[in-house]
Amino acid sequence: MNYVVIDRGDKLSKELVTRFHELAAERGLTRNDDNPEMVISIGGDGTLLKAFHTYVNRIDDLAFIGIHTGHLGFFADWKADELEELIRMMGECEPRIVRYPLAQVELDTDEGVMTHTALNEFTLKGLDNMLVAQININDEMFEMFRGDGIVVSTPSGSTAYNKSLGGAVIHPSIESLQIAEIASINNRVYRTLGSSVVLPQHHHCDMIPRQGQRLQLTFDHIAIVRNDIRSIRCSVASRKVSFARYRPFTFWNRVREAFLGYDVK
Ligand code: NAP
Ligand code: MN
Repeated sequence: MNYVVIDRGDKLSKELVTRFHELAAERGLTRNDDNPEMVISIGGDGTLLKAFHTYVNRIDDLAFIGIHTGHLGFFADWKADELEELIRMMGECEPRIVRYPLAQVELDTDEGVMTHTALNEFTLKGLDNMLVAQININDEMFEMFRGDGIVVSTPSGSTAYNKSLGGAVIHPSIESLQIAEIASINNRVYRTLGSSVVLPQHHHCDMIPRQGQRLQLTFDHIAIVRNDIRSIRCSVASRKVSFARYRPFTFWNRVREAFLGYDVK
């Protein structure tokens, strides 16, 4: 099996990378940075986001595994002291592959259409002033938004930024996107729903920002600035991300352990 390791860059994570390569060689696993079948992230959820974007063009051919060197993560479910057990299982067992939905974001700009993918969420904010944008759902005007911004999250991203905004936690088996507002202004001209909405897989949402605004757009941890956005279309991506599970760790157990602290293991 070909694998690659991506780490957070701190001392502990780097030590684990060295140890990983040693143990993996003993088990007959092959390090291959260009053509991995398994991408192992050592660090936190942020490290897995980095790993995801490094290999986003190859996600149909690989699966991710997360090892956390800090607190339990949503994407990182192996502990540092379990490295040996994980590598043994990688050498001996077939993992269960779980597949999570992604967000597809198509930007219509003066330079053409650009497509981005997000594992957690896409965000849109005004850089100099508030964001002003018309929001359409399935090509029909839904609302006129004015406020700090909009967050469109995937189910697995629903526990991240979306949750801080009061959005619902969505199980990743529900192929959907959730649109949450950041501090919307409501008056006679600009009126928004207020609550977050969940779109099913075959729906899409368009954001048409007022022309000439400098906007900040993020795709997970990656931020860009543009002032030539004509419209933005968000939908559930046709591709999914795969995670390799060598032992069960259900989504609701992750939610409970991360947010409520009840440890059942
Ligand atoms: P960061 O500032 O280190 O991340 C913020 C926190 O979000 C970290 O504790 C991170 O965990 C956690 N996180 C990431 N993905 C998660 C998920 N799917 N479910 C639950 N928690 C998750 O920056 P980063 O590590 O590069 O992560 C980028 C993410 O930060 C964005 O995708 C966004 O979701 C989140 N964010 C949140 C807010 C907010 O809640 N107000 C604002 C901006 C961005 P680790 O410590 O394990 O990395
Ligand atoms: Mn982080």
